[in-house]
Amino acid sequence: MSSNSPSPAITSIFRDASQKARNLVQRLVAQGGESLDWVDELRQLQFGYLDESSQKGDRECRAGCSGCCLSAQVDVTGIEAIAVSDYLRTCVDALTLNQIKSRLQRVTKRRIEQIQGVTRQRPLACSMLGEDGRCMVYPVRPIICSGVFSTRRDACLDAEQMAQAGDFSSTIPLDNDAIQATGGISGTLQRILVENDLDGNLYEFNSAVLTALPLKNALNRFLAGEDLFRDAICTDAHSPPRKRAVRKPHFLKSQAVRRA
Ligand code: SF4
Ligand code: SF4
Repeated sequence: MSSNSPSPAITSIFRDASQKARNLVQRLVAQGGESLDWVDELRQLQFGYLDESSQKGDRECRAGCSGCCLSAQVDVTGIEAIAVSDYLRTCVDALTLNQIKSRLQRVTKRRIEQIQGVTRQRPLACSMLGEDGRCMVYPVRPIICSGVFSTRRDACLDAEQMAQAGDFSSTIPLDNDAIQATGGISGTLQRILVENDLDGNLYEFNSAVLTALPLKNALNRFLAGEDLFRDAICTDAHSPPRKRAVRKPHFLKSQAVRRA
């Protein structure tokens, strides 16, 4: 999915959302608490902007419309994956949870095969998509899922068909105010985590939830700096613990030895 070029007004929405998210996330990092509260508070902030969007009336997204959940890859922070796994453990019955686990394993395996080039790139349906076309983790869905609105449903259908045929080049017109606010909040969440020496990288959603599900006290361990997502698919390794420090070139090491 892609959006139109940002206008000055939209840039101010991005900046404003980033600033408000900074204060909020800094407070959340300091207080710890529950992962579901984190997502709740971030969502409250996001909803304020979504409500005020100048393109609110142009959105064509409806409950049960799920083309995006069938074809788009969703990337999340560890915090969002932990919130979804906490929600699954506490709010979903055992049978459904087992079905979701099997789907998480299947989707993750296929995604890895695609990354390794063993199989061709094809859209993979999100493991959280219910048979009725609705999200099964709706109250804690990733920030990006609650901030992307198409203004042309027909463009979504075209994009979905093209993706099924292996062509991911199509673009979908989006509610730009919503996407700017969402980008500001999501980007700031990553940035504040990194500034606090925590894992602010992005992970493929299914693999990250699969990784977080068996973990006890995941949020506390995450905030204590434990590397919980080493087995998940990292889609944007921009900082530690995924991005390792670049090794010193060999000749610099030799100079150091000579000086000694
Ligand atoms: S983004 Fe497109 S496919 Fe997804 S809910 Fe909106 S209109 Fe439907
Ligand atoms: S988490 Fe929910 S809203 Fe997001 S892609 Fe999956 S099914 Fe769709």
